[in-house]
Amino acid sequence: MKLERILPFAKKLLEKAVKPGDIVVDATLGNGHDTVFLAELVGEKGKVYGFDVQAQAIHAANERISQHGLSDRVILLQNGHEEAALRIPAEYHGKVTGAIFNLGYLPGSDKMVVTRPETTISAIEQLLSIMAPEGIIVLVIYHGNHGGAIERDALLQYCGELDQKTAHVLQYQFINQQNNPPFILAIEKR
Ligand code: SAH
Repeated sequence: MKLERILPFAKKLLEKAVKPGDIVVDATLGNGHDTVFLAELVGEKGKVYGFDVQAQAIHAANERISQHGLSDRVILLQNGHEEAALRIPAEYHGKVTGAIFNLGYLPGSDKMVVTRPETTISAIEQLLSIMAPEGIIVLVIYHGNHGGAIERDALLQYCGELDQKTAHVLQYQFINQQNNPPFILAIEKR
């Protein structure tokens, strides 16, 4: 297939927005794959702030990050992403250039711990306020799981109503695939 698949496209968007030395956010650590990717993008002078509410995710991400020798530039926080503005130091406000959310639940973990529309939207609002112009937030929306459709609809509504003067919003989705595969909403701050 020539069309870019969802997860590679998410990475392309972040590569466009993030450069060495930048401050970025992994809003849902999960197993830490995206954190490793972001940590490599920001280089040794940058910082990745990683959030997850589950100890299991913090542990798995920590292992993966240290195996890659990237611990020096990653700050792992066992806090909800709805605390982003509080947890990211004020000196970095206005300097965040990229953020990613992988929504839903962590495969192989407690399926009761899922991202929720209110906290996801609160985190997006905070990130938009502390990002640099042209910073990009990538939302990977998993809507096949329990509660996923509700979160999808809330995010489509919220993102669709973001003022065009403050943000560009993109939806990237294969629309004829079975089993509700994930899709992307990307928000670029203006
Ligand atoms: N569905 C994706 C993986 C999503 S992982 C896939 O299949 O690849 C989502 C992660 O978000 C989980 O590790 C979960 O613990 C975390 N999470 C849930 N609520 C959160 C919150 N408020 N803040 C930060 N992380 C949260």
